[in-house]
Amino acid sequence: MAAILPVNPKITALQQSFSTSVLTRIEHAKLHQAGVELWLKRDDLLHPVISGNKWRKLKYILNDVLTAGYDTVISMGGAYSNHLHALAYAGSELGIKTVGLVRGERPEPLNPTLDDVRKWGMALHFVSRGRYRELRQYRRHDALPRLQAGEYWLPEGGALNLALEGVAELVEEITIPYDMLCTACGTGTTLAGLVKASPKQSHVLGVAGLKNAEYLHAEVAAMVGGHLDNWTINFDYHGGGFAKINNDLWDFINSFKQETNIDLDGIYTGKLLFALFDLLGKGYFQRGQRIIALHTGGLQGNRSLAARLSG
Ligand SMILES: *Cc1c(COP(=O)(O)O)cnc(C)c1O
Repeated sequence: MAAILPVNPKITALQQSFSTSVLTRIEHAKLHQAGVELWLKRDDLLHPVISGNKWRKLKYILNDVLTAGYDTVISMGGAYSNHLHALAYAGSELGIKTVGLVRGERPEPLNPTLDDVRKWGMALHFVSRGRYRELRQYRRHDALPRLQAGEYWLPEGGALNLALEGVAELVEEITIPYDMLCTACGTGTTLAGLVKASPKQSHVLGVAGLKNAEYLHAEVAAMVGGHLDNWTINFDYHGGGFAKINNDLWDFINSFKQETNIDLDGIYTGKLLFALFDLLGKGYFQRGQRIIALHTGGLQGNRSLAARLSG
């Protein structure tokens, strides 16, 4: 259950420019044959820029920033980060300064993601991979060493407890019963939010996009609390690694688009739907089950993916 938190008028005003995230039923011969219903919760439709779970996670964090009177949010991400992209845009709309600590060397020219965030006023600092790993250990908003007054630290992927409150709201928007709720996982924060807000008789499935991501299990368990066990993470569909996209995945994304007219990204939602259809073929779901998969958005990342595929 989401706590009833007072919402700052600036957050309410920004959210007024959002569309509703509908549930779309996916029609597909393989689903019919298996007698399984698949629905997509369309958080990709929320907003043209801050799409998907990134807004869900940021909402109550930025609310906290405004309410407590901070003026700057410092966060971290990769060079194609959907999180930094959403944060920079939301910050510019809400009048909050943003700073991005970006993994690796500054690309010249900046890729489309970084070009956008700079345009929206995010200050960029490029950090070595080693330094980036160190930054991961700071898990509280005041944990980054040498923070100045007014500065708020937002850990990788927006993984603060307040993120779970926003994710819970998307679960509350789902008004039909379901057997399984599925999401792609990066830091696992979204998954944790889904688990906390879902009915106990439903199962929540995360599909990890990273290779060697088994540590996620403990991290999600820590966010969720030990009393809930109606969830699992599948580690079989990273497709070779985080930003790796193989031909099977690319073909799947293209045919899914042709069949449903819905775009998937190559890092998260493409792998999630690929996994669900593959699991369907393996008899993982039972006849009569209703599965809801969360479309977490992330389509801005495809701009660079297309370039990397051809280049
Ligand atoms: C960031 C992201 C995820 C992963 O979210 P976590 O909460 O970090 O697990 C999934 N899908 C998309 C499109 C994302 O951008």
